[in-house]
Amino acid sequence: MPRETIVSGPPADDDDQSLGRRVYHASDLEALPGDEADHALRPQRIRDMVGQGEVTARLEIALDAARKRSEILGHILFDGPPGLGKTTLAMAIPREMGVGFQIASGAALQAPKDLVPYLTNAEENSVLFIDEIHRLPKVVEEFLYPAMEDFRIDITLGDGMNARTINMPLRPFTLIGATTRAGLISAPLRDRFVMREHLEFYTLEELAEIVARNARKLNTEIAPEACREIATRSRGTPRLANNRLRWVRDYATSKHDGNVTLSVADAALKMQAIDKLGLDGQDRKYLLTIAQTFHGGPVGVEAVAHTMNLPPDTLVDEVEPFLLRAGLVIRTPRGRKVTSAGYVHLGLEVPEEPAQGNLF
Ligand code: ADP
Repeated sequence: MPRETIVSGPPADDDDQSLGRRVYHASDLEALPGDEADHALRPQRIRDMVGQGEVTARLEIALDAARKRSEILGHILFDGPPGLGKTTLAMAIPREMGVGFQIASGAALQAPKDLVPYLTNAEENSVLFIDEIHRLPKVVEEFLYPAMEDFRIDITLGDGMNARTINMPLRPFTLIGATTRAGLISAPLRDRFVMREHLEFYTLEELAEIVARNARKLNTEIAPEACREIATRSRGTPRLANNRLRWVRDYATSKHDGNVTLSVADAALKMQAIDKLGLDGQDRKYLLTIAQTFHGGPVGVEAVAHTMNLPPDTLVDEVEPFLLRAGLVIRTPRGRKVTSAGYVHLGLEVPEEPAQGNLF
């Protein structure tokens, strides 16, 4: 197949709504749109983030070095359960570098042609953020390899005898990928990221700090014990801490004088059926399904999902990570099992031979 080279890509255009493509220039980054309430609480700079200290220290060094050498920042992959700050970090990085930013979702990039506008319109040194990058089909992944490595893409025009491949250079860009399932990312794609950072659940102290800071942003009076209570019941996850804080604040305004005390926080969270460990109705139903319907397990996640009438991905991505981390359930080669701590938490009698997990 003959090859040609196009010297420059098409000029940057505005958002392509049909693909859900969102483009932000460096000057727009101080006021990124999105969910307004979420935006108000999202840390804008890396230094504003609470916790994840090792990750942010490594990022600061990479950013500093890229700035000092006037080089492009290498591609970065963030992985970890939902709500831990992957998108927040990905948005803070272009702000720190003073460069433009585009957001894409792996689920929406189902063919190479879906990715082309992002790549050809990427401004020099800008960031392309692909959320849920594990959902890219293999053909799209392969199309990305030369873009990540050499900042070029091969586009095939026509077919059969008339097919020809055009080699198109791209402006250098930084790809930031985020995933809740690092294990689903193929090794060749994973290896093309210069930095791979795993985000862990937050400690109680970190979450309490996030709640206290965000209460201040929301102009809400809150007692330190109430911050800790909300933190304890947020499953190690800032997004949940923010949601719980907003609910507790609404409850305090509606039922009391607007001030959040420990007893107000407790009553509000009880009303949402959030228990002492922070589990909600769905988490407990998952544990109960395995404990009672499947006699404690082992049972495959598909069977549990089917019984609960939920997609297995919801259980794997959103429900299981914290329950595994809390030692309420374990994963074995034959499936999931509820641990004795899981039975105790549900208030059920522990059977003869329950699975052993570690509570933290
Ligand atoms: P993810 O992309 O991992 O699902 P996000 O980055 O969207 O998670 O984070 C969810 C919300 O949690 C953000 O809007 C932000 O308000 C809050 N958040 C996340 N990480 C932090 C942090 N380190 N410090 C303070 N707030 C945070």
